[in-house]
Amino acid sequence: MAVQLQTAHASLAERLEARGFTRRDFLKYCGSLAVMLGLSQAAAPQVAEALEIGEKSGKLLPVIWMEGGSCSGCTESLAQTNTPDIAELVLETISLNYTETLSAAAGHTMEQARKDTIEAGGYVLVYEGAVPTAYDGNVLMVGGEKGIDSLAETAEKANAVIALGSCACDGGWMAARPNDAASMGVQKFLSDKGIDTPVVNIPCCPANPEWLVAVIVQYALMGTLPELNSKNEPVEMFNQTVHDNCPRRGHFENGEFVYQFGSAEEAKGYCLYPLGCRGPQTFTNCPITRWNRSLSWCVEAGAPCIGCGNINPMHPQRNWVDESTPFLQRHRDISLGDFHFQPPAAALAFTVLVVGVLAVHAVGMKVAGRVDGGADFEPERRWDVKHGTPAAHEAGACAAKLYDGLDAEGLEPKNIKRFRRIREAKKAGLDPKAALGFKVEHASEEPAAANDDAMKGGEE
Ligand code: SF4
Ligand code: SF4
Repeated sequence: MAVQLQTAHASLAERLEARGFTRRDFLKYCGSLAVMLGLSQAAAPQVAEALEIGEKSGKLLPVIWMEGGSCSGCTESLAQTNTPDIAELVLETISLNYTETLSAAAGHTMEQARKDTIEAGGYVLVYEGAVPTAYDGNVLMVGGEKGIDSLAETAEKANAVIALGSCACDGGWMAARPNDAASMGVQKFLSDKGIDTPVVNIPCCPANPEWLVAVIVQYALMGTLPELNSKNEPVEMFNQTVHDNCPRRGHFENGEFVYQFGSAEEAKGYCLYPLGCRGPQTFTNCPITRWNRSLSWCVEAGAPCIGCGNINPMHPQRNWVDESTPFLQRHRDISLGDFHFQPPAAALAFTVLVVGVLAVHAVGMKVAGRVDGGADFEPERRWDVKHGTPAAHEAGACAAKLYDGLDAEGLEPKNIKRFRRIREAKKAGLDPKAALGFKVEHASEEPAAANDDAMKGGEE
C-alpha cells in the first residue's frame, strides 16, 4: 500500500517512473484533479508543479484517519487496488500519522501518535463511518476511550474535518432504522457538541478516492477548502445529478426502458429507471469520475444507481439508506416525521378514507330520507334568512311555494318527481292519476325549462 506512516521516499518523478506511469499520465491526472478543484484542465501543469514543489519541500500535511461505525469500505476503496494508482502516489505527499486500519503499529503507541499530532496542530482529520452516540457513547470504544470523546477531541483542534463516505456524512447504514445505536454523521455530531471546525462531506458507499485526493491536494497545496454546497459537499463534484451525465440518458429521453433484468431491453443497454434507478435524484459526478481507476461505474456495469450519494447530513433519520430502500424498485418512502411509508400504502390509506367518508355520507342521506329523488327542496335556510341576498330570499320563497303545491297534492317532499309529472299531466290536460306512467314529450326535450317551472311552483 502506498499510503505510509514514514515520509522518506524517492522523488515523485522517480516513483512515477518506477511504477510505469509516464509524465503524460501524471499531467492527465493533474488535469482531472484541477477540474475537480474547480479549475480548468489548463491548470494541470500548475497542479503538477505544486505537487512536486510540495513534495520536495518535505512539508507533508499531517492527517489523522479515524474510523467510527463502519465496514472499512472507504479505506478499502482507497487501498485495495492490485497495482499502485497515481492517487496513491499523490497521497504519499501527506503524512498519515494515525490510521486504525492501515497502520502496522497498534494500541497505545498509535493512540500516542494521535495525541502527539493533536498537540502539534495543523492537521486534517479524515473520519470514516458513522458516529454511534447511544448508551452514553459506550457503543464504540477505541484504546480504552469512548469513540465520541476521541472524535470530539481530535476534531476540535483539527484545521478541517473530512467526513468520508455516506456513513460519516449522515449515518448511512449504521443510522438506518431502527438505529438502536443512535448513529449520525460527523457534521451533526460536531454541531450538537458546539464544535465549529469546518466539515467537508464526501458521500457515497464507498467514497470515491479521487474525490478525497482532490480535497486533500487542494488543502495541502493551496491551504483552502473547496467551495461547498448546502450539504457541505464540494460543489464541483456534487452539483449535477448522476442522470445528467449518464450515458443511458438518450434511452430515457426516448422512453426506452429496462423492466426486467435479463431482458432484451437490458441487453440493448436501455435506461434502468423502472428498476429503481435513483440517478435523477442523486447529485454526484460518478459517471464522470467513475471507479476503479476510471474503469467503470454502477450504471455502466448494469446496476441501477441506488442513491448512495444522496445524503442528509443534519437529519440522520433521513439517511440515504432509509430514503432509497427498497432498492431496485421505483417507489421511494414518504416521510411524515418519524412515520415512513411507501406511496402504494399512502394511496391505499387515502382510498379507504375516501370510501369511508362516502359510506358515512350515504348512510346519513338514507337516514335523513334524502336518497330517493335526491335532496328535498328545503324551505329558506336559517343562514339565508339571517344573511341572505334578495335572490336567496326569492329562492326560499319559490321553495315554499313548491311545498304548498306538494301539500295540495297530498305528497311528501321526497315525491318531488311524481309531483312534477302530475303537474305536467295537468298542463297537458291529461288525467293526473295516470301520472306515474306518464311521459311528457316536451318535459324530456326541455328539462331545464321544466325544472325552472317547478322551482317557480307554477301550478296552473
Ligand atoms: S439509467 Fe438511471 S441515471 Fe441513467 S438515464 Fe436512466 S434513470 Fe437516468
Ligand atoms: S452511481 Fe449511484 S449508487 Fe453508484 S456510487 Fe454513484 S451515487 Fe452511489
